[in-house]
Amino acid sequence: MIHKFTMIILLLGMVALTGVLSAADAPAAPAARPNILFILSDDHAYQAISAYGDARQLIATPGIDRLAREGMRFDRCLVTNSICGPCRATILTGTYSHINGFYNNTNSRFDGSQPTFPKLLQAAGYQTAIIGKWHLESDPTGFDHWQILPGQGEYYNPAMIRDGQKIATKGYVTDIITERCLDWLKNRDPSKPFLLMCHHKATHRIWEPALRHLAADGDRVYPEPASLFDDYAGRGIAEHDQDMTIARTMTAQDLKLVPPRDLNAEQRVAWDAYYEPRNAAFRAANPQGRELVRWKYQRYLHDYLGCVRAVDESVSQLLDELDREGLSANTIVVYSSDQGFYLGEHGWFDKRWIFEESLRAPLLVRWPGITPPGSACDRIVSNLDFAQTFLAAAGLPAPQRMQGASLIPVLHGSTPEHWRTSFFYQYFEYPTPHHVRPHYGVVTDHYKLVQFFGTGEDYRELFDLSDDPGEMTSVLGQTQRAGIQAELEGELQHLRRELLVPDKFPAKAFGNTRLPDND
Ligand code: CA
Repeated sequence: MIHKFTMIILLLGMVALTGVLSAADAPAAPAARPNILFILSDDHAYQAISAYGDARQLIATPGIDRLAREGMRFDRCLVTNSICGPCRATILTGTYSHINGFYNNTNSRFDGSQPTFPKLLQAAGYQTAIIGKWHLESDPTGFDHWQILPGQGEYYNPAMIRDGQKIATKGYVTDIITERCLDWLKNRDPSKPFLLMCHHKATHRIWEPALRHLAADGDRVYPEPASLFDDYAGRGIAEHDQDMTIARTMTAQDLKLVPPRDLNAEQRVAWDAYYEPRNAAFRAANPQGRELVRWKYQRYLHDYLGCVRAVDESVSQLLDELDREGLSANTIVVYSSDQGFYLGEHGWFDKRWIFEESLRAPLLVRWPGITPPGSACDRIVSNLDFAQTFLAAAGLPAPQRMQGASLIPVLHGSTPEHWRTSFFYQYFEYPTPHHVRPHYGVVTDHYKLVQFFGTGEDYRELFDLSDDPGEMTSVLGQTQRAGIQAELEGELQHLRRELLVPDKFPAKAFGNTRLPDND
């Protein structure tokens, strides 16, 4: 039995200690550094998240919407180079492709010796893990635990590499990644703050939904975007010459007219039960011309949105686990995708362009006590900012080479006086796989000035987003826009200088083909 007097002394001591701690620790460093749960999907278009309120109302995503309801939705999170690997390299390093060296998906290999935010968090005492898609060729660095898909990975029964060892799995990739993240959360060292990067393969091509989601949309007919049959009039050769249309580029595999190879026999039975009767009806109807494009669009959306469903369930499960473990109050949860994606706009799938659907990634952040619940931010933020944000949240300085900014002031619901009002973009990979010409440009709230380069057919375009939000007609050279055009040209040069963008790039920056005016 503890003596009454001892109890009083102990209680007095605790009160005194609490007083000292709160006074000393409040302004400088939070008593507990926040945990970070970073959920990244692949090619998930903001149009396919209900919190973004797309006019087509393609899907309900209650899991991701919970983050919007309890945190902040970003309406203009712009990526530096809209393609998978380069976006991941930018996220890790807080730098553009010309600084981190990862320009394209064709021949780039991530230099894991450079500073990354996971590495810096790990050195500062965070327990760090990445589970899921990595896609940067070299092994991850800066993680206490890593378990990744080799390359793009498979949707069904994917092989994984766990801390360097190849392992087999059985099941659906999104579920497997989620389960392994939940296991890691349960078994982590609770004495340390954590960084968990949950990186989904979905919703990347070839869009294989989970078996339980094949019939989830009840054969809904999805609304078409206004520009499904875009003829690219009003724009230059790059838009005419691309190879990423639903009409021309999608394969029988993309369209599930042949079954995927990664299914086991049991999975194949359930797969065929859904697709075979529908494929038979398609073959019997034998649509042509625009009707064929319409059929392909419907099949594409069915499969793509089917993949979104499992990702959304994953977000719900991870948030529920944080609740169960009592971690929600001190965990920053971020949901984003490596870039945006086309869901039929301009007749396209894929990404790459400086245009809105590919340039803009979804971004939702919940940080209890910081992000006002149900808030939205229309300032220009970027995947370039993630690294500095996480470092600042942990009370760590960012290396000089990082080129973004901490989002913390924005997350509080205010915009700092000197927040960016323009953004530099640059894309390289050409000609394969989708024949999108290299281009760079400057983006503001209302305008985009684009420069195509490197192919010997260089040209510019100017888009006025206020008049033409669908970016259908370049207004370059119009007299009434001469002022804004000159201003944007000046800003473009300013940003290129500030961001140390070279005039020439090595041939490897473009992928596998040497371009005429580059060494
Ligand atoms: Ca991607």
